[in-house]
Amino acid sequence: MKAAIAFVLAILAASACGHRDAPSLRTGELGGANVLLVTIDTLRRDRLGSYGNTNGLTPALDRLARSGIRYTRAYSHVPMTLPAHASILTGRTPRGHGVHNNVSFRLSDGVPTLATVLKAAGYRTGAFVGAFVLDARFGLNRGFDVYDDRYPQNYGTASFRFAERRASEVVHSAAAWILGNAATASARGPRDPPGSPTRQPRWGGRSESSSGAARASGGGVPASSKKWFAWIHLFDPHAPYDAPPEYRTGRSAYDAEVAYTDAALGELFDRLQNAHALDRTLVVVTADHGESLGDHGETTHGLFAYDSTLAVPLIIAGPRVQPRTIDQLVAHADVMPTVLDLLGIEAPADLDGVSLARDAAADRAIYFEALDANLTRDWAPLTGIVRDDWKYIDLPIAELYNVGTDSGETNNLAGREAAQRDTMARALSQMVARVARTDSATPAPPSIDADAAARLRALGYAGGSAPRRRAAYTEADDPKRLATLNERFNTALDAFNQGRGADALRNFEAILRERPDFVTARTSAATVLLAAGRATDAVALLHQAPPEQADSPELLAKTGAALREAGDFINAAAALEGARRAGSQNPDVLNDLGVVYARLGRDRDARAMFDELLRRDSHAAGAWYNLGLLELERRHADAAADALRHAVDADASYGDAWHALGAALVERDRPAAIDAWRHAERLRPRDFDLLFNLGMILADSPRPSEAVPFLERFVREAPRDRYARDIPRVQATLARIAR
Ligand SMILES: [Zn+2]
Repeated sequence: MKAAIAFVLAILAASACGHRDAPSLRTGELGGANVLLVTIDTLRRDRLGSYGNTNGLTPALDRLARSGIRYTRAYSHVPMTLPAHASILTGRTPRGHGVHNNVSFRLSDGVPTLATVLKAAGYRTGAFVGAFVLDARFGLNRGFDVYDDRYPQNYGTASFRFAERRASEVVHSAAAWILGNAATASARGPRDPPGSPTRQPRWGGRSESSSGAARASGGGVPASSKKWFAWIHLFDPHAPYDAPPEYRTGRSAYDAEVAYTDAALGELFDRLQNAHALDRTLVVVTADHGESLGDHGETTHGLFAYDSTLAVPLIIAGPRVQPRTIDQLVAHADVMPTVLDLLGIEAPADLDGVSLARDAAADRAIYFEALDANLTRDWAPLTGIVRDDWKYIDLPIAELYNVGTDSGETNNLAGREAAQRDTMARALSQMVARVARTDSATPAPPSIDADAAARLRALGYAGGSAPRRRAAYTEADDPKRLATLNERFNTALDAFNQGRGADALRNFEAILRERPDFVTARTSAATVLLAAGRATDAVALLHQAPPEQADSPELLAKTGAALREAGDFINAAAALEGARRAGSQNPDVLNDLGVVYARLGRDRDARAMFDELLRRDSHAAGAWYNLGLLELERRHADAAADALRHAVDADASYGDAWHALGAALVERDRPAAIDAWRHAERLRPRDFDLLFNLGMILADSPRPSEAVPFLERFVREAPRDRYARDIPRVQATLARIAR
């Protein structure tokens, strides 16, 4: 009943404020205001009450919409998290900023963002992100004083899920920062402690570094005296859907996530309002993209670009913003120019978006794309435009919809409305030509050297570096024909995430029999094999890829990782170098290459890789850890301790780094080493090498009785076969302490 009343009020408010005469946004009107940007991941527009949903899922967002401007036709340029956020923050479409999917791209350092511009204008800037997919390493952190991406890290744990944290944690951290008592100091470990390492930690398998503590930099001005820009990213509606139980009753699992996220936001808005932090604050809320939930045969998002995933809510509210509903076509690239225009700050040149405070061109067209399947599987590339009521999707089987009369996009008019289709196709190609300045921004891969080329040939890879994207795609490559295969692929990923590796492998292999060029199915199958310790099988499977995929960066990267796991460091280096030459920006490639170089004794090259990772993100705990291990192996104890302290500063929950830090300190500062190993032991209670080290060093300390619980547990729990020679030693030590 309450929900129904809220909805009726929402309708009344919307219609009362729907008059279209008075200007709603004015250039420079909000000069000096704070800015709160909220992006909700994977939020379907039709789940908001203010956009017509009747289930009362979003009371907080609906309240905000009633107080501000609600855009009924806002579009994302790409239904994928990283590129969509790059558009929101840069005012450019993916063709303008160069990021086309998750993980394999990184926003180029030369592209100004809302954060860099506002910071230059004197704002303090903070970002609070909910998931690994927006980790600092992907380049959206530039311009932020604080980039808080503290989601749980799973070092060395293979999973296809992105690490995430709940909305309540993200908004809590954001509110603390906005209100000026930000807990941005890292949780620090002990800085000093000593021993004798009998066993050293292993190399980190991944660069899944970072976090554990908000990254603070800059600052110096008292928080409360400065204008602020906060960006809050809430990941909860993204799959898997696992809202807290109290939100689930009577709702689908997806709707429960939406309701939970809205509740967390409601608490944030209330808290900020009560502290008068919203009195002079421009608030912008949108989603990066929606979720298909079965529409058009897609369960999640990323493959297609129908309105289920491409249409987004967009709400702008703030002091002097008159409530209003606007039906004109707008897009994510408009967010940055609009915000800057309202603040009276000059926007960078060459943006693809326009300020919504100014009159848009009447025949405006919005560019969109969904290129992930093309980039990772070589399926036909999907691009398109929306103009007026028409939406055109350029694929081997072209699609044209009148979204004004056919919002479900079920009636493809591409055949019947040939003239309209051709007009739209022309407009798309003109637009693509106009904004094709992009990828020049990403650094060119280094040229191939003859030695590396020879090694690549020995591996069976082509030495040439020209991409082999197919010139022509047929209807068989159209994602519409491949939607079922896509769903089977996602099901296999889920199986692996749920611990059913054998099922996952069987499914990936079945997919590969049908579509041997499905690169991501192949690399995913290899991931499953690697997780099962079957590195040689993984290498063999990767080598079975069709020869025309020999220079796929994704395939080369995984082959390098598998060869590394198999102990073939020379060929691993060749494959990983090939991945870099093929343009891979993936930090895991740099990390793997650093580890492989270290294994080959190429220390300078190894350090260069870790340094490169740390230049990208100085809080990359995994890179600090691997650098520390390199120094530790070379017996540079001081350099090792220094790097490892950085690792645990960046992520206090990094057990392996604490363990290695103890090893680095044990010769010169025994108490500090004990302290570090105690930290490690709390984080990794089942690490018996560590338990042994800690117990034995304590046994030799001035208070040997402290060793007893650790050593007793070692004797009780350590696997008999692996520790056959150590157990009697430990028993003898226990006997000595008891005397
Ligand atoms: Zn997303």
